[in-house]
Amino acid sequence: MSTTRRVLPVHEKLAHREMLLRKSWESLDPQFRTPNQVLGRRSTIGCVALEITQRCNLDCTLCYLSESSQAVKDLPIDVIFERIKRIRERYGTGVSIQVTGGDPTLRRHDELVAIVRRISESGMRPSLLTNGIRATRALLAELAAAGLFDVAFHVDTTQRRSRYPDEQALNAVREEYIERARGLKLAVIFNTTVHAGNLEEVPSLVRFFLRHSDVVGMASFQVHAVTGRGDWRERSVHVTPDAVAERVREAVGLRALAWDTALVGHPRCHQATMLATVGEEVADVLTDRPLYERFLEEFRHVPFDRRDVRVTARQVILRAFADPFWIARGGAFLIGKLWSVRKALWRRERIGKMTFFIHNFMDAAALDPERLRNCSFMVMTDDGPVSMCEHNARREEFIRKPVSLGHHAGAERFFDPVTGRIAGTIETV
Ligand code: SF4
Repeated sequence: MSTTRRVLPVHEKLAHREMLLRKSWESLDPQFRTPNQVLGRRSTIGCVALEITQRCNLDCTLCYLSESSQAVKDLPIDVIFERIKRIRERYGTGVSIQVTGGDPTLRRHDELVAIVRRISESGMRPSLLTNGIRATRALLAELAAAGLFDVAFHVDTTQRRSRYPDEQALNAVREEYIERARGLKLAVIFNTTVHAGNLEEVPSLVRFFLRHSDVVGMASFQVHAVTGRGDWRERSVHVTPDAVAERVREAVGLRALAWDTALVGHPRCHQATMLATVGEEVADVLTDRPLYERFLEEFRHVPFDRRDVRVTARQVILRAFADPFWIARGGAFLIGKLWSVRKALWRRERIGKMTFFIHNFMDAAALDPERLRNCSFMVMTDDGPVSMCEHNARREEFIRKPVSLGHHAGAERFFDPVTGRIAGTIETV
């Protein structure tokens, strides 16, 4: 740790952070407390969603929102600020907060910027999940200046965007969004819901993301789940995490991908693989599990900045040069990877990285309590953090429930999201 501290930034207040990590570790079922488990070892949680509006300007066939979403009023900004505070108390600094909705860009833009700034100033990492329609270059630049860490654009055929019949056609939209974000200090992510109608387009999507890995750092595939207000009510038996993983592998052209090296929460919830890219050649970075486990332990307090992969890579290499183990074992690993992409390196092609992530949300009618207990993706509610799968299944209950505004003149006041009124007064927010 002392060597790490000399050459790398580390989180502040380590004793407090250790306490929060221990709490996360102990909240996991014992069989998931493994050396490759990220929760409780390096992260207190994967991500916490902060829903700042329930409204959306699209109506996806697989939408996770519920029947009242379009009608309920936005929570007052002080309630949002209070939730940010509670996330920090529960999970600590460095946590990724997904500012979401509905589509968060439908919230007043000055409020959206203030929310992002509050998260950033609280020492956490704000991320914006949007369909991109209202995410102009100017707004993204303003959000980046306020501390936005990454932007995740959700673009796919479930959105019924007119003039775009398939994923191939939607690449025009993706390209436009990439240009909007290009050059801003933001990590750029694309989310795609995979369903029976686009499963066979996954390989071409993967190749598209690899071609744009100068801007795009991560592509997340969500497997079709039956939840929310969407009108496709049946899950195809062919659309599974394994089916998606196989199509990713086929597209990148490697014999196998190390989907199981990193575990975040429950193994049935998601899989991830990280690739180093040199031009169109790729190397799987997670093939050596013991090395990854040691990395997880030794870098447990180091916050990496995925907005700037080069800086992060340089920091890790610097740290490696300070330790004989990493020089020997890590060096051999690195040489092996460089050898596998030597032709592209020789041609001096562009170097980057790409993470592929597969999220396997549960159907509302088939929630698995074991997965809920070991969830890594929570939503902050008035009742505290709740698993996203459970929240989606019970969304109506959560979004219609009056929210406490604290005590005023000896009485507790509530904001009613259905009417937009504060209980006990006639004031409208
Ligand atoms: S939201 Fe659902 S699928 Fe995702 S980590 Fe939590 S329980 Fe698992």
